[in-house]
Amino acid sequence: MSVTYSGHYDAIVVGVGGMGSAAAYYLARRGKRVLGLERFGVPHSMGSSHGHTRIIRLAYYEHPSYVLLLRRAYELWREIQSTVDEKLLHITGSVDAGPEDSWVFKGSWESCRLHDLPHEVLTGAELRRRHPGYHLPADHLALLQPEGGFLTPERCIVSYVAAAQDLGAEIHGHEKVLEWEPLEGGARVRTDRGVYEADKLVVTAGAWDGKLVDVLDGLAVPERQVLAWLQPTRPEYFRVDNFPVFNLLVDEGRFYGFPVHGVPGFKFGKYHHLEEVVVDPDEMDRQTHDHDERLLRDFAERYFPDGCGPTIDLQSCMFTNTPDYHFIIDVHPEYPQVSFASPCSGHGFKFASVVGEIMADLAENGLTRHDISLFRLDRLARPARDPVTDHGQGSEQLNGRPRSFPRAEDIRTFW
Ligand SMILES: Cc1cc2nc3c(=O)[nH]c(=O)nc-3n(C[C@H](O)[C@H](O)[C@H](O)COP(=O)(O)OP(=O)(O)OC[C@H]3O[C@@H](n4cnc5c(N)ncnc54)[C@H](O)[C@@H]3O)c2cc1C
Repeated sequence: MSVTYSGHYDAIVVGVGGMGSAAAYYLARRGKRVLGLERFGVPHSMGSSHGHTRIIRLAYYEHPSYVLLLRRAYELWREIQSTVDEKLLHITGSVDAGPEDSWVFKGSWESCRLHDLPHEVLTGAELRRRHPGYHLPADHLALLQPEGGFLTPERCIVSYVAAAQDLGAEIHGHEKVLEWEPLEGGARVRTDRGVYEADKLVVTAGAWDGKLVDVLDGLAVPERQVLAWLQPTRPEYFRVDNFPVFNLLVDEGRFYGFPVHGVPGFKFGKYHHLEEVVVDPDEMDRQTHDHDERLLRDFAERYFPDGCGPTIDLQSCMFTNTPDYHFIIDVHPEYPQVSFASPCSGHGFKFASVVGEIMADLAENGLTRHDISLFRLDRLARPARDPVTDHGQGSEQLNGRPRSFPRAEDIRTFW
């Protein structure tokens, strides 16, 4: 395909997935001339934002400082859903459960205490009486937070893109960014279809961030995940009105799940599934296999036996992990006209609305009113270990805490 010079923009957004769609919208809303470039379609199932549902929750065991961002995220999700007149946010309540001293239960409880969030603490037996789909061990505790629920990720992306287009943003699907270079006061982007220039460049390329931004290489590392949908044998226990979304730490690991929505099955997955670090996201094994299904069905048979009928669907997806599992959101250390976001590590979608706003702030002013100090690039040393050769050591320890790269002592963790 011949390369043509195609114009000048206030901002170019590379990657129109969860974060990029929102960034394009908030930039367009500020009157910016925006170009969004997406290598696949809008939406698609090759990245990190497919599979019909993503959990959103206010109680946040990963770190309490996420709660303020979450309040703004909820506000913005409600705003965009009213702009496009489509329900994107479904409130079911959220359960964070595990042994009493586990980081999932304790961290969630601590975030509720610190931020004065309404919540209840139930034993496994009490939770089952209220929500009979759950069969948790008797000695586990569950924190129930009423504002938890789920988002519909593909529809969120479509909504942000449609709203951005209404404001004049140009979005190009099936156009892959090959490289970019800084210019004085701007950036030039070369794709497989054209060359574009802009005053600001926003990179929100998900699992491909490390390929496009030198300083993210080795710090934003893709990992293969698998999701299952099983037909419940007692469908009445897995309805949106009777089954809160969950994060659950059990002997087998840390799992998350949803009521039936979008696909006729109870959906769930295991964080860091088989701990398969992927060096090149284009090379990932996207097929699902018997051993993927077995691992997931074993979990459901034990803790959600009434949700464990025939398999309806299995899908693969990618996490993009940082060394401490907190996000990376920053401006490029050498080129202040370039900003980037890697808000994943398996828990980023719920923030896409507020991350879009933050990326618009960073592109417009180089700073944001939101506290993103936890996400700054300079908190992370370059990984001293090779994520490929190390992956067999596992990304979570037996106590369910993430393993950290060497400078864990320098990183503010909650648990
Ligand atoms: C199985 C699974 C379950 C999850 N569950 C939850 C959950 O319940 N709750 C939650 O909050 N989070 C969850 N997450 C995490 C969340 O989905 C991610 O944080 C989020 O989707 C990341 O969005 P993103 O915009 O960074 O990536 P993506 O949405 O993948 O967007 C990146 C985009 O960049 C495009 N791109 C890449 N390279 C180029 C290029 N060279 N040129 C042009 N375009 C390019 C890609 O095609 C893609 O569309 C889950 C993730 C997975 C995989």
